[in-house]
Parts: sequence; structure tokens; C-alpha cells
Amino acid sequence: KAKATHSGHHVYRNTDNRHGDARLRTLQELRLALTRDQLVLHYQPKICLKTGFVAGVEALVRWNHPERGLLFPDQFLTLVEEAGLMHALTQEVLRKALDQSVLWSAQGRTLTVAVNLSASSLIDSDLPERVGTMLSARGLPPTALMLEITEDFLMVDRDRARDILTRLRASGIKISVDDFGTGYSSLAYLRDLPIDELKLDQSFVFPMADDARAAALVASTIDLAHGLGLKMVAEGVENSVAYDELVRYGCDFAQGYFMSRPISAEALDEWLTARQS
Ligand code: C2E
Ligand code: CA
Ligand code: CA
Ligand code: CA
Repeated sequence: KAKATHSGHHVYRNTDNRHGDARLRTLQELRLALTRDQLVLHYQPKICLKTGFVAGVEALVRWNHPERGLLFPDQFLTLVEEAGLMHALTQEVLRKALDQSVLWSAQGRTLTVAVNLSASSLIDSDLPERVGTMLSARGLPPTALMLEITEDFLMVDRDRARDILTRLRASGIKISVDDFGTGYSSLAYLRDLPIDELKLDQSFVFPMADDARAAALVASTIDLAHGLGLKMVAEGVENSVAYDELVRYGCDFAQGYFMSRPISAEALDEWLTARQS
């Protein structure tokens, strides 16, 4: 709208405003996305490395934007957090994942669905009760759901986080520590935190095939998990070399493009059917 100018100052202010406007627009769109049901979940299978069976799936959120198409979490999650909408998003994701779980059990599929929790969702003391209500309203057992947390939630309010995790776990919901190995917290929390599983970050898994030291690190971390009575999941398994190594090291579960990318519920249904036959 503003006339083109040769003044650098004007050009700068102009761009600056445009960024501000775009941001504001996206914020408004985000609020609408939640009320207009534009969030969709894709599901990535989690494979048991002992049996080769599908143990469950991880729900990963996408935003089906009316103009921009399918947006990925790195394109909007920061903004969700900044806008104070993470609580609403988590509720929406839990609702959708559990509704899908009802459909799966009606089809005779027993799939545990894992939902990602941001650190900010773990300061919400009502979470265990709300999740419990959502499960029982759908007639689902607690084993239908797993929750993935990251190490950074410990930084926010350790005592409260521990209390929330303890209550969730007492109700039978399993807890997984996501992006394991990338956080800044000390390993001490592993000793006394109520968790079931570690999810080794993909940055450790990628170099495994061509780097002996990277492989040694993965193998030792799997042993560490087992020594603590925890299960280990490897993410970012992109080829058969990584898959076979992880089997050799005794890793419990794996996720990655080698088996399947995150896909829609319909595509997952086909994928599961093809795999069974
Ligand atoms: P994450 O929880 O660590 O999820 C794994 C990410 O790696 C996913 O990206 C997945 O698509 C990708 N991935 C899986 N297998 C492979 C592989 O073999 N190779 C490579 N290169 N990548 C692989 P995505 O879906 O873009 O999600 C990114 C992050 O956004 C997630 O990382 C998670 O931290 C966050 N996120 C996703 N959904 C939600 C949600 O519902 N709530 C919250 N709070 N965060 C979410
Ligand atoms: Ca995750
Ligand atoms: Ca991860
Ligand atoms: Ca990650």
C-alpha cells in the first residue's frame, strides 16, 4: 500500500510492519484453527524389534491451513506456545487421538497411541484427572495412551512435574522421555523419576551406521535404559542397517521412515492391513 521509496528507512519499516501483520494474521488464524477443526493428526508406527509387530503409534500434529496447505509442527508450534494456546492444542490432540483409538478398538486393533506433551502442559496439575476423564468417557483402558515428555519439563517446576507424572503413572498411563540425550538436565533424574521408557533422539541414530563411536554410544545407552528397568525406543530409523544394528543391541522399539513416515489414519489403516497379510 505504501508507495515505493528509495529511503532505506522506509523500506525497513515497511518490511517490519509486514512481518508484524503476517504474525498477527497467523495468530488469529491459529485461534480459528482450533475452533474450526483444522488440526489433524498423523500417526507413525512404533515397531517392537523383538517380534516385528506394531506396538503402537505416535500422534504428530499438523495444521491443515485453508490457504497454505498442510503445515508441520516446526511451522507453528512456537507460535502456539507464544500465543498461550498450547493448553488448548494439547486438549485437542488428546481428544482426537483418543477418538481415533476408539475407532481402532472397534476394528479389533490394539494400538497404544503416544501423545507429545510440551513442558508447559506439565505444569497443569489437573492434567491427570482430565486425561482420566477423557479415557473413561470413551471406555478406553489407560494402556491405550502413552505420554511423551521432554527433559526440559524438569526445568520448569521439578516437584510439580514429578507429582503430575506420579499421578498419571499411578492411573496406568505409561510415560516416555522424548529426545533423550539432547537435554541439559543431568542423568540423576533417571534414578527417581516415574517413567517407563526412553526415546533416543534421532541425532544419535542417524550416524550409527557409519560411525563406530556413535554406534557404541547407542549400544551403551540401550544398556543404561535396561539397567534402570526402562524400555528403549530408537527414533529416526531410516534404513535396514540401522534397524538391524538396533536389533543386535537389544533395543526394544523403533520408529522411522524405514518402516513408515507419519501418515493419516486412513493411510495407516491400509499400511497395517498390508503388513498383516
Ligand atoms: P518428535 O516428538 O521428536 O517427533 C519426531 C519427529 O521426527 C517427527 O517430526 C517425525 O515426523 C520425524 N521423523 C520420524 N521418523 C523419522 C526418520 O526416520 N527420519 C527423519 N529425518 N525424521 C523422522 P514432526 O512430525 O515434524 O514433529 C516435530 C516435533 O514437533 C516433534 O518431535 C514434537 O516435538 C513436536 N510435536 C509434534 N506433534 C506435537 C503435539 O501434538 N504436541 C506437541 N506439544 N508437540 C508436538
Ligand atoms: Ca515424540
Ligand atoms: Ca523425539
Ligand atoms: Ca524432536
